[in-house]
Amino acid sequence: MPRKATPKKRRKPRKKVEKKRVKPKPRKIEEIPLKISFGPAGKPIGFRGDTSKVPEALREMGLNALEIQQVRQINIKKEQALIIREEAEKNNVILSMHGPYAINFSAEKQEVIEASQARLLKALELADWLGAYVVVFHPGYYGRREPRQALEVAIESLSIVAEEAKKKGIKAKIGPEITGKKSQLGDLDEIIEIVKAIPNSMPVIDFAHLHARCNGCLEERKDYEKIFEKLESELGSNAFNPMHIHFSKIEYSEKGERRHHIFGDGFGPKFIPLAQILIEQDIRAVIISESPILEQDALKMKRIIIELLKGKKPEELEHYE
Ligand SMILES: [Zn+2]
Repeated sequence: MPRKATPKKRRKPRKKVEKKRVKPKPRKIEEIPLKISFGPAGKPIGFRGDTSKVPEALREMGLNALEIQQVRQINIKKEQALIIREEAEKNNVILSMHGPYAINFSAEKQEVIEASQARLLKALELADWLGAYVVVFHPGYYGRREPRQALEVAIESLSIVAEEAKKKGIKAKIGPEITGKKSQLGDLDEIIEIVKAIPNSMPVIDFAHLHARCNGCLEERKDYEKIFEKLESELGSNAFNPMHIHFSKIEYSEKGERRHHIFGDGFGPKFIPLAQILIEQDIRAVIISESPILEQDALKMKRIIIELLKGKKPEELEHYE
């Protein structure tokens, strides 16, 4: 007897519910929408094509963030920026941008500060064409100044950029980064102070730099937790909307950072404790890999997060570190 001929209306819904409960459709973990995006700082290793082709390549390898590097000079033209933006949108890749290294907002020479202001403003303008949500930069050097004075000069110099950017209607955020050398302005407290003072800014948390500056202080979970607590109490949602993270392993000396390393090379900091906090506190984050094998370590970090979500124990994942 064909089923259609005998519609048992009252039984049907019950059957459906039962079926759902007994046999839930298994969902692949990779399909679970992660609140964390992963990607490289710049083009993937070995990628030879144009920047506009990078988003597609990243999507194909399972990544969804890209920090465009404009660290030597700002050389992407508006026309090209709009193409990159379209490709990023099409491939669901979230963009950020690293601005020029030649920036020093606490310089002794006024002309250096003015050149820094012009460079950051130009970078912010480009970021808006790209649809990049933040421009990352290293705020400055102490030079001969006392740290407190260097910070004050940097804040004053940066506030002029923020004002100009506002006048131009720029949306991209100003992203001072935690720096890796002790001669550089930009420890955690200084970055927090800058972000508090500068409109439309957000902190960029480089855990490798932080680790190098404090002589390897990121050892276990509680060390990371202190940082999260401080960011939460000082900046609230401004630090987590999303949280912009740089991560790699790092070698350091008494002066701070020496060089970035790959996962599995025996250098800290550990990623697993950070991954646990991000998952448990349900934090939205963009994690940029600055490892010498950029995208490969970005994928490794994603793998760690996925394995933890699957219920693997942290100690079972140690081999990744
Ligand atoms: Zn940087």
